[in-house]
Amino acid sequence: MDGERSEKRMNVRACFKCKEYTPIHPGNQVSSELIKKFDFLHFKHPVQTLDKTEIPKNFKVILLVKIGGGFNPHDI
Ligand SMILES: [Zn+2]
Repeated sequence: MDGERSEKRMNVRACFKCKEYTPIHPGNQVSSELIKKFDFLHFKHPVQTLDKTEIPKNFKVILLVKIGGGFNPHDI
């Protein structure tokens, strides 16, 4: 059973105000752009990097962040 422990860890970026998170794929260009946008959108929010296993169940995964075009979910 000990062999199972080397399972890949995955971190996520999570906002505790909006209850949203986005996966972090180190070295992935698209992912790092998404993290940058996520941090930008959740500026001044309680954002934390968590292990995948620590994500609260009511959090929603965000795989695409829209910026510009007048759409900002935080304006609503
Ligand atoms: Zn937020």
